[in-house]
Amino acid sequence: MSTKDFLEKDYYKALGVAKTAKPAEIKAAYRKLARKYHPDANKGDASAEERFKEISEAYSVLSDEKRRKEYDEARSLFGGGFRVPTGQRPGQGGGFGGFDLGDIFSGAGDAGGRLGDLFGGVFGGGGRTTAQNRPRRGADVETETTLSFGDAFDGTTVALRLTGEGPCPTCHGTGAKAGTVPRMCPSCQGTGQSNRNLGSFGISEPCKECRGRGLVVDDPCPECSGSGRAMSSRTIQARIPAGVADGQRIKLPGKGAPGERGGPAGDLYVRVHVKPHPVFGRSGANLTVTVPVTFAELTLGAEVKVPSHRGAPVTVRIPPGTPNGRTFMVRGKGVRRKDGTAGNMLVTVDVMVPQNLNSKARSAIEELREATAGQDPREELLERAKEA
Ligand SMILES: [Zn+2]
Ligand SMILES: [Zn+2]
Repeated sequence: MSTKDFLEKDYYKALGVAKTAKPAEIKAAYRKLARKYHPDANKGDASAEERFKEISEAYSVLSDEKRRKEYDEARSLFGGGFRVPTGQRPGQGGGFGGFDLGDIFSGAGDAGGRLGDLFGGVFGGGGRTTAQNRPRRGADVETETTLSFGDAFDGTTVALRLTGEGPCPTCHGTGAKAGTVPRMCPSCQGTGQSNRNLGSFGISEPCKECRGRGLVVDDPCPECSGSGRAMSSRTIQARIPAGVADGQRIKLPGKGAPGERGGPAGDLYVRVHVKPHPVFGRSGANLTVTVPVTFAELTLGAEVKVPSHRGAPVTVRIPPGTPNGRTFMVRGKGVRRKDGTAGNMLVTVDVMVPQNLNSKARSAIEELREATAGQDPREELLERAKEA
């Protein structure tokens, strides 16, 4: 039996006697229960056996005047009935279930201490207590925005509405009405955890009285109904640089959640979605565009006018005998980069097969067919198909 056992086990409850019970009462209670749960009388009943062990352990402590005194002292000192995290013993300065009593006591003694500081850690819920009085960097925040193709191309400033949970501004996070202060939850002694004893083992669950906060508020703050937390929203102007790509994540340093106790703000990450353009596409810093051309233009060569983004159309020279699908590069007509240079525009030619021919065009095509009758475009293909 350890101090941990002392804190976790309620021996009085095990024997069903009051804390003020006289030695004779304890003995009588023990005898009655021991007879009832004795293994000889409950063959094969594991729960009765566990109960018997529990009763015996309780009696071995409570029947010994010196040990009963130690037990009572340990329980009154530490409140009793709360869970001691594995590996931590009272006196080592560790937290009890995420709630450090030392913090409360040292904070309470500091007349200049703000309530927000004092209770900040408790409301934060579960954070390690050693860091709770230090300045804390605000959280990083992630949000999304959708830009038109043109705004992504040029760069733009967008208004982003950020919503986050923070301490209630009315009660500074205490949850208590102005002029009142929360008190430690008497049910869980401020641990936020309650233990239920199920025979030989106990289970720990959030305290029902305080919903795991460790504190109870008699007079709740009307603004946050006693929760101490409030949703707040702010709007910031975010500069999106030129040339941002769909799916890109932009970091805006210091635009995240504000820090606590003088700590720096976190960073804001903006995930950018870019709407597609009906004509242009993007490939890194390059713009892409597909341009319809005629068979004659590819065969004989031509100068064709192609659109550019944010500028006048440009002329692309197609040399005679250009295969369909070839891509031409127009320098500097792509997306501006950070260093001031720009990507290129990639122009891909796509031959159009005429659907409606007038009689003149038809006879010209028929003439072409006759003139090229000796050339079978599939000859090489058929030959190569025979290989290996
Ligand atoms: Zn409030
Ligand atoms: Zn409680």
